[in-house]
Amino acid sequence: MPDLWMPGATRYPNSDTGTMDGGPPRAVWHITSNSNDWTFKNELGYFTGGGRGVAPHLLWDPFTGQIAQFFPADSRALALRNAGSVRTNRTGRYCIQIETVFTAGETVNGRRYATVRDTPCKNLSLIVAWLRSLGIPDRWPGGAPTGFARDTVSLDTWTTQAGHYGHNQTPGNDHVDPGPMPNLFAAGTYTEEDDVSLTTTQATQLAELHRALVPYMGWQYKGKGETRDTYSYLRDTSADVRALAAKLDAQGKTISQLVQTVATLAAGLGDLDPAAIVTELKASIEAIDIRLDVPDAQ
Ligand SMILES: [Zn+2]
Repeated sequence: MPDLWMPGATRYPNSDTGTMDGGPPRAVWHITSNSNDWTFKNELGYFTGGGRGVAPHLLWDPFTGQIAQFFPADSRALALRNAGSVRTNRTGRYCIQIETVFTAGETVNGRRYATVRDTPCKNLSLIVAWLRSLGIPDRWPGGAPTGFARDTVSLDTWTTQAGHYGHNQTPGNDHVDPGPMPNLFAAGTYTEEDDVSLTTTQATQLAELHRALVPYMGWQYKGKGETRDTYSYLRDTSADVRALAAKLDAQGKTISQLVQTVATLAAGLGDLDPAAIVTELKASIEAIDIRLDVPDAQ
């Protein structure tokens, strides 16, 4: 039994669930296309509030990777219109609808994004993995969406073929979303970034920082008055450290011998407790703070 709730998605159960009509499992991709608001938070507010009646299964933000789920996989969602007597929301064993929080041409951190394909697609692989676990195959029966235009598949294709569809391909519907999508099926062909892209200003600032820092970062760096570069300095330092370690090792052996000698002596002194002397001696040796003074590079 697959997970009916996607691992990693935050659940906001919509009580208006409904049974599926059965048949080949599929996914339907949407974008929110909101001319006023591009935030996950507000789309989430919409689908849990006034937009409950048109809620998908998943709400996904391709910039932040946030994912919310409103219906379990085995319930129909509500973001499609029927095609006559064919209840498109209920077609298939599963008909997982995903609303991508995206609007063509939206600007995020100063960069304009034309399609979902251009976004960081953060956590998309998690969604695809879950869809696969539901038995939805890696294929677009009507071909991957190529633009913001209708490309409706036949009712026969819709009812008999498992896989991925765009809202723009679903019979009985007039929407043109989701527009061009990344390649969902070949790992690594869409860029899943940890962070959104930089603005031009941020990129310029970063480049300036880089230029300023490079002289201090490379092996060729020489401090003022230092004749050796970083690599030679490290190599020499490493030799120094090895020599110091050998010295410390020798000193450690000497100290152990000393402890042994004192213990032997104490054993011959009658009243004194040898164990107490050894404990005292060890404690004072351990209290010695050995400093390794390595000269600074000037
Ligand atoms: Zn749609």
